[in-house]
Amino acid sequence: MIKSLLVANRGEIACRIFRTARRFGVRTIAVFSDAEPNARHVREADEAFRIGPAAPRESYLSIERILAAARATGAEAIHPGYGFLSENSQFAQACAEAGLVFVGPPAAAIAAMGSKIVAKARMRAAGVPVLPGYEGSRQDLKHLESEALKLGLPLIIKPAAGGGGKGMKIVRQEAELGAALAGARRLAESAFGDDALLLERYLPAPRHVEVQVFADGQGNFVHLGDRDCSIQRRHQKLIEEAPAPGIAADVRTRMRAAAVLVAREIGYVSAGTVEFLFDGGEFYFMEMNTRLQVEHTVTEAVTGLDLVEWQLRVASGEALPLSQADIRLHGHAIEARVCAEDPERDFLPSAGELRLMQWPTEESVRVDAGFVTGDVVPPTYDSLLGKVIAWAPERTQAASRLSAALDRTYCVGVHTNEKWLSRVLRSPRFLEVRHSIALLQENAHEFVGAAEAAPQTVVLAALLAHTAPASDLLSTKASAPAGHEAGASGGSRSVERAASPWDARDGFVPNLSARIEYKMSWRGRSYTAEIEFTRGKPVSVTVNAQTRWNVADVSLTDGVIAACIETVRAHARCLVEGSHLHLWSAGEHVDFMLEDPRLLEFSATATQGGLTTPLPGVVAAIAVEIGQAVRAGDVLMMIEAMKMEHAITAPYDGTVKIIHFARGERVPEGSELLELAPTPTP
Ligand code: ADP
Repeated sequence: MIKSLLVANRGEIACRIFRTARRFGVRTIAVFSDAEPNARHVREADEAFRIGPAAPRESYLSIERILAAARATGAEAIHPGYGFLSENSQFAQACAEAGLVFVGPPAAAIAAMGSKIVAKARMRAAGVPVLPGYEGSRQDLKHLESEALKLGLPLIIKPAAGGGGKGMKIVRQEAELGAALAGARRLAESAFGDDALLLERYLPAPRHVEVQVFADGQGNFVHLGDRDCSIQRRHQKLIEEAPAPGIAADVRTRMRAAAVLVAREIGYVSAGTVEFLFDGGEFYFMEMNTRLQVEHTVTEAVTGLDLVEWQLRVASGEALPLSQADIRLHGHAIEARVCAEDPERDFLPSAGELRLMQWPTEESVRVDAGFVTGDVVPPTYDSLLGKVIAWAPERTQAASRLSAALDRTYCVGVHTNEKWLSRVLRSPRFLEVRHSIALLQENAHEFVGAAEAAPQTVVLAALLAHTAPASDLLSTKASAPAGHEAGASGGSRSVERAASPWDARDGFVPNLSARIEYKMSWRGRSYTAEIEFTRGKPVSVTVNAQTRWNVADVSLTDGVIAACIETVRAHARCLVEGSHLHLWSAGEHVDFMLEDPRLLEFSATATQGGLTTPLPGVVAAIAVEIGQAVRAGDVLMMIEAMKMEHAITAPYDGTVKIIHFARGERVPEGSELLELAPTPTP
């Protein structure tokens, strides 16, 4: 076995490869860019080496810098992970020339699949089923256009050198053809440096199925079963499962055999994936990914094997540990990719500090994560935070295990998709295998989240606002919750706690019934919740001035707010962060924005032109200079507090005398910000 391994990658895959390497006592070496010098993969490796600035071209995509890192750290082998240089034959070649073991296929095998045109033509010749299309060498646009018309519409145009779903164009109408070809050509050239295009019949709603293959350098080839990866957005996979459901036994057998044939055909070594489109009856070769894939985990779950271990063994010159007859598949596994992106806004990527990232810990659930609480998600790389994988004897059980695990995944700080994934996993469409890669074009409306918060959640939110320590509510930024069990409060908190009458937040006013009202909003809707107290204890909450819910026994324990609401004991995982109340309940992450009375006071003072700040915050901008004459209503300063910007305006005409704070400075509550000498009235 090799003795040291550099992983030329980051995020979850680097962590995952290190885990197996450690199991074999292999020294682990991470590489990092300036975007994340303290990333989890950097912390977990035995050694870490800086390879350059954030831009991938100058770090993870630079063959030179990766090889320099290997030299500097004395690495014996390099694992490329997926993405970045993993399917770059020049990189594999350069490793070989530098005397480094490349944990992957030989450069020639990568090159054989590097061009979709060459690969498809070769596989067609070898007798592997492919979709009708044009993969000729005559590439002038006029010729492509006439080939396209011969092929018929709809069709798909793919850059020959493409990957990751980039640059593909679907043409449905003849009138679009010319522009689509010209556009695809430009994109192929700029994105891949190769303008060759492939035309292929477009299947409107196929499934994406693939076969995991493995080969050693001694002529042994096996498959490790198939997977379905049809739940995608922008042609990128989000949910993957093994085995692929709903395929006739004879078709499955032929497909697996075809995959092994593909691997043999190109003299493959190591882990690889042969991808097919499946139209319900037949399968068609699409491409081969010459690397370990994101979704290898579901194959591991059903085979009980460690694919990275196999890769390391094969790279060390060993034969495959098992023959085809010894490889058994057992049960069903499904993986969901938890990504920093917003399903409510067309899966727009999101970046920022993860103030809470709590992964599920259920039985039969595996988590391969690249991020934990406190980590920063940089905007530079892909949005994958981690993968949650559930195994069960049956498919439906695996799906419900996984959706339950995703419901118990808690993330604050960036937008994430786990609740959306959970809804897909619970949907009849997925459970009955009535989905295809066109799911989002055709059925997106089936997976949208709740438009409004359930009344129970509003009740719990109000009780949380009342119960959470004032410091949590006041601070503009919650202190990073420690470790796994982070929550709104450390220990248990009962509601009767007002030691000093001034601390009491029970709405007590002499001679009036004790009531306190909270206003909050979520997804554009406003809610009011009025808590009524008897002897300092909440006894009811009235939601939106309409429904009154009797409440009792409120508790806040280990980040869970609970209360008896009428006859049920309701509870929700929660986190208070500034004026945000996060509650996780019924498969939703409800992020209430609390209307803090002091925010209203802020607006009030602002409109009256007060020069102090009622909230602690940071000076976001200073609009004036000392000596400057201003008119009433002019903006003087912007204060950022509670994740919002507030304008400080001039209460009267005057001249700026003193500015007490500089841009970027923190301002304590109640501070005077500037002094303004009034213009004498004539
Ligand atoms: P890439 O290498 O960019 O990932 P692929 O050829 O693997 O490109 O295709 C990626 C995805 O595009 C597939 O998973 C599928 O969703 C879609 N796709 C590719 N070819 C076709 C086709 N002929 N008809 C319909 N969809 C297709």
